Amino acid sequence: MFDILIATKNKGKIKEIKEIFKGFPVHIVELPAEDRDIIKEDGKTYLENALKKAKHYAEKYHLATLADDSGLEIDALNGAPGINSARFLGEKTPFDKKIERILALLKDKSNRKARFKTALVMYLPKEKKYFHTEGKVEGEILRLPEKKEGSGFGYDPIFKPDGFDKSFSALGEEIKNRISHRRKALNKMKKIIEENFLGGDKMIEIKINGKRLVANKYVYDVFKSLIFALLGTLKNMPKIETVEITIKDEKNSEGKM
Ligand code: IMP
Repeated sequence: MFDILIATKNKGKIKEIKEIFKGFPVHIVELPAEDRDIIKEDGKTYLENALKKAKHYAEKYHLATLADDSGLEIDALNGAPGINSARFLGEKTPFDKKIERILALLKDKSNRKARFKTALVMYLPKEKKYFHTEGKVEGEILRLPEKKEGSGFGYDPIFKPDGFDKSFSALGEEIKNRISHRRKALNKMKKIIEENFLGGDKMIEIKINGKRLVANKYVYDVFKSLIFALLGTLKNMPKIETVEITIKDEKNSEGKM
């Protein structure tokens, strides 16, 4: 299985990323608890910051590494806190206080439009290259926080995504993880991983004693150990004379499957 290191210590993000990768054939590796590195997020864009984090940890731990940088952009505050979302009022200031300040700044504003944005980078240390995706979700800032204990983090209690009537926090993790900025960026990254590391839309054809079994390489990777373990337990199995495995590009195949 393909190992991916998640370059964040934010428990909320780790939980979300793990949830979104559930059932996907990659092994999520977390940063060791004793890692105390502090990466200064001094880039001018989300991408610069995400790349800096991903590259640092990828080179340190020699693993493909995924990092994101996200922010909340509020129109009435000219896009603030934006790239400074984590540092708004100071990194250590509790989110209740940050939220209180944002609500005070927006007290008399009728334009409540805002959006969460994410830049996601997967850095490959051996190849010294990276893949990059983005995601955003439009919404508005509520007049009062709506917090559901244990659900969401950061600015979630005051952000209501368009098309819903509750905050990201109150909607609960399942809904947030279906529509969030990070979900959109991660979905695009999953596609990139599929295409570059799991065979993408290449189809696998397995012939056992001349009989054809067709599977996507992704399905094959997930189930191959199971298939062969199962075959091993079957009694009266015809003796396996030949096994041919062919990988072909579905788009270029001539409808033979
Ligand atoms: P960073 O990407 O970890 O630098 O996050 C920037 C800031 O935005 C942090 O303070 C996060 O708590 C906040 N943030 C990032 N993603 C979310 C989210 O999905 N919900 C609420 N706050 C978020």
